[in-house]
Amino acid sequence: MREEFKDKNIVWHSGAVDKADRVKANGHRCAVVWFTGLSGSGKSTVAAEVEKRLFDRGCQTYILDGDNVRHGLNRDLGFSEEDRTENIRRIGEVAKLFADSGTIVLTAFISPLREHRAQVREILAKGEFIEVFVDADLETCKQRDPKGLYKKAVAGEIADFTGISAPYEPPEMPELLVDTSENDVAASAAAVVAYLEQHGLICPG
Ligand code: ADP
Repeated sequence: MREEFKDKNIVWHSGAVDKADRVKANGHRCAVVWFTGLSGSGKSTVAAEVEKRLFDRGCQTYILDGDNVRHGLNRDLGFSEEDRTENIRRIGEVAKLFADSGTIVLTAFISPLREHRAQVREILAKGEFIEVFVDADLETCKQRDPKGLYKKAVAGEIADFTGISAPYEPPEMPELLVDTSENDVAASAAAVVAYLEQHGLICPG
């Protein structure tokens, strides 16, 4: 059991520049665009295309990607239930810090459990958590298999693999669903950018 706070004397420190100042300077609001979906559904690919489109419009952006985070910040974590919980908790906290810096954060994590995603939504300001369900059926993902992981998982070489030997809980009410077995990358990215425009997070391009 992890302690809530190890040191009871820790106090949040506010600087002379706050989030509202950053939003004003950037000309857009901050947000965490949380892509969730099976491995190979296209989270990283679509997130990268969305980032490019936002960046080209002058937005402050940053991608937090599953494998990259596991190389560093979360290198001590595996894929057990406890480790997956801690993985998402840390990513949520990092995303929150980036959002506080005025950034539009794009995250690409399978994040298979509703409870974990709900916990991230909980720690962010209202309207700042945008859950994007990157939906592609398992067969499509298996065929794409960009990292050869499904092949290994089916052969029993990877334990607790989402969609094969571990569950994926689709979002019940995502802010947005992009079906990448039906739409190409450009169309999915355009839908995300349109959502951000329609909800006043970025100015119309
Ligand atoms: P994830 O981050 O969800 O694990 P990736 O983005 O790493 O998925 O991999 C998805 C793979 O599927 C990429 O190789 C991408 O080029 C390919 N792909 C094929 N069609 C699409 C599509 N319509 N949308 C997104 N990715 C697609």
